[in-house]
Amino acid sequence: MTSFLSTPALMLQLSELADDQTYPTGALYVVATPIGNVADITVRALHVLGLVDRVAAEDTRNTSQLLARYGIAKPTIAVHEHNEKSAAERLVAYLKDSERIACVSDAGTPGISDPGARLVDAVRDAGLPVIPLPGASALTTALSAAGAFGGGFSFIGFLPAKGRQRATQLRILANHPMALVFYEAPHRIVETTRALAEAFGDERQLLIARELTKLHESLHRCTLAEGPTWLEADANRQRGEFVLVVEGAPETEDAEDAHDALLSTLLEELSVKSAARIAATLTGASRNALYERALKLARRGDGEGD
Ligand code: SAM
Repeated sequence: MTSFLSTPALMLQLSELADDQTYPTGALYVVATPIGNVADITVRALHVLGLVDRVAAEDTRNTSQLLARYGIAKPTIAVHEHNEKSAAERLVAYLKDSERIACVSDAGTPGISDPGARLVDAVRDAGLPVIPLPGASALTTALSAAGAFGGGFSFIGFLPAKGRQRATQLRILANHPMALVFYEAPHRIVETTRALAEAFGDERQLLIARELTKLHESLHRCTLAEGPTWLEADANRQRGEFVLVVEGAPETEDAEDAHDALLSTLLEELSVKSAARIAATLTGASRNALYERALKLARRGDGEGD
């Protein structure tokens, strides 16, 4: 089979497009790398990885091996959760010397349940530019296949490993109206899906996205009650890396009453627009729905005052 990459003119055109952008020196480039399939790298990521002076990597051995697959060899510097602050100081010094540095994690987008965020803060605090390059993330990959229930979402990442702490966090999230996205490791996947059903009830939709972009990729959508049973039915279903997307809490009268109470208080000091905006931030509910509700409450208030 002929690969489109064997068309030299196309490859040249794509790399010229990547080259058209300016890539300032003294800047940190936050570069997403694949979450499984090595081909899931952008042309621009390859261009920048080829251009930078060094690569800040969560695991330098992994990254050197990945870069070798693309025919790139660069000096690497380790930046992981245990040294991110001190490594950031060294990297800022290199940037001040007008280097270009790429920041990558082991897989996917740096800073998403991965090191990178503190380095970004340090670079920005030093008054230097941070330039993000979009690419793979398990978060967006799973959401893209979740369907309508994943439309509005909150990213939670890994839940606490200890049962009691996990249950506390899930209790806090139980009435959150948007879909919730979790990352989970294989040895806790059954336990976590069970805890989700206990905290949120049996009925909500669940997407179990496993080994995305890899040979044994599977996406299974079911209810929260069915999740643990489905996983336990076959040991292979518990292997690999997981993203869980859980449908948000249904609107209840209790939630509406709570929103009205919050909006009424905010409307004592604020405009309808500001009250809706702040209530949306505090509750996670839709800003438009809260605006409509706030408008009604404000009109009712005006009527009462007549
Ligand atoms: N920075 C990464 C990203 O952008 O998605 C996430 C890194 S986090 C340390 C690793 C977790 O992401 C895994 O435990 C798993 O929950 C999720 N993950 C990463 N790759 C995955 C894949 N190919 N399929 C499913 N989940 C994946």
